[in-house]
Amino acid sequence: MLDLIIRNVQITDGSGRASYIGDVGVSDGKIVLAPQGAAKEEIDGTGKVLCPGFIDSHSHMDRMLGSLDELAQLARLSQGVTTEVTAQCGSSVFPAAMSAKAWFDMVDALPKGGNYAALVGLGSVRRAVMDCRDGVPTEEEMEKMKAYVRDGMEEGCFGVSSGLIYIPGVYSTTEELIELTKEAKPYGGVYATHMRSESDHLVEAVEEAIKIAETAGVPLVISHHKAVGLSNSGKSVETLRLVHEAIGRGMSVTMDQYPYEATSSTLTNSIAPWYFTDGYAHLTERLKDPAFRAEVKAEIESGNLSYNNGVRNAGGWDRVLIASAEHTPGAEGKTVTEYAASVGKDVYEAYFDLLVENGCLKTKAIFFSICEEDIDRIYMDENTVVGSDAVIETAKDHMHPRAFGTFARSICRFHKEKGLVSFEEAVRKQTSLTAERWGLANKGLIRDGYDADLVLLDYDALRDKADYVNPRQLTEGIEKVFVAGKCVFTDGHLTDEKPGRLLRKNR
Ligand SMILES: [Zn+2]
Repeated sequence: MLDLIIRNVQITDGSGRASYIGDVGVSDGKIVLAPQGAAKEEIDGTGKVLCPGFIDSHSHMDRMLGSLDELAQLARLSQGVTTEVTAQCGSSVFPAAMSAKAWFDMVDALPKGGNYAALVGLGSVRRAVMDCRDGVPTEEEMEKMKAYVRDGMEEGCFGVSSGLIYIPGVYSTTEELIELTKEAKPYGGVYATHMRSESDHLVEAVEEAIKIAETAGVPLVISHHKAVGLSNSGKSVETLRLVHEAIGRGMSVTMDQYPYEATSSTLTNSIAPWYFTDGYAHLTERLKDPAFRAEVKAEIESGNLSYNNGVRNAGGWDRVLIASAEHTPGAEGKTVTEYAASVGKDVYEAYFDLLVENGCLKTKAIFFSICEEDIDRIYMDENTVVGSDAVIETAKDHMHPRAFGTFARSICRFHKEKGLVSFEEAVRKQTSLTAERWGLANKGLIRDGYDADLVLLDYDALRDKADYVNPRQLTEGIEKVFVAGKCVFTDGHLTDEKPGRLLRKNR
């Protein structure tokens, strides 16, 4: 007797091939195709679509595990995401806060609706050994960092990640990153990177990313690929050319992408990196000093192209939306310009006050700075998969809508609205292609014996509702979501089932 049969449903199996009508069974958490006999539970799937659970190639939800569990899981499961690849952009909880083993043990023990995979954050590794120091590591520091990478890979990480605009990742040289990434190679690990530039030096940044992965001999994932800043519009022509050249030499290169025209980061992302050498807390202190403010302001306004300047890329403070500012009532959801006007301050005074009152690390913003034409071009590339870059800082913050909306939005924007790809291809880019590139075994396809992570949806009703004003609205049209055959989301809410697992590579 099977546990479940979904009958007479349109099966879009994740492979990209044409959908067909059939029955899908579940037994012991695994998919049974063309099931015979009866099941404990039957669902009539007439008029509905069954897809593999969506796989998020890029997520920061590992940081919410153990604190904002219910909210984090609602954000993901309500849009059909059943597995997410976390600890991206150089940032993992280990080894600074605890060892990799302690983190894996902790997450194993937590009740989880969905599945998680993790990477070793190279920024976190550097911070654990060198704190926020600029400059190259000593030989001894390098050995310590390598040992931390191996620890994470031993536990079952799927690769390493770097975040080269963040502190301290911004101080890592290409050579350092190659040496650390080599440690992941024996385990089949991937190098994923939030590159050194996504704007003025985007092309050079892609060259560096390719060089690191190619020299280390591992597959490359370019995180949330995009061109930022109006003057960089169209640069994806060149970045995709470089990607295909590398693939021609035998490399594996994947890009992930979220389907939005705005980025999300710390509000400090406009301030030059050399002001961060003593850490975020120290910068917060210094920003109380008017003379220092004048210096930082002059640098932001200088047109210096050597670093990632968020407000310049967006084209002004009226295109920077305050997303998270816990201690400043009334700021969240306003642009910096709007907020300054509302409190009767000069825009820079308001900006610096926000950072001082909320702390440089905790103040988050949304920058409307992604070039539109590049979004479609990147999505259409056969090596691009969908990744949300989801992060939720607090239970109440005004987050980027990608946390709740990415997966329906990709289907709606590129397939339903623009007709750039078939429905089957849109689904493939968020299921089997993602599983294949990350090496997630038994995921991403509706195939006999695969994990029964499934999404039952209403194609006509499918619509992302999360937007910049209301970023937590649930996607419409997602009817039921299953993880390991258990229903984790139905009728707009989570169930009590917690069948999710922390995945371990090679196990
Ligand atoms: Zn990133």
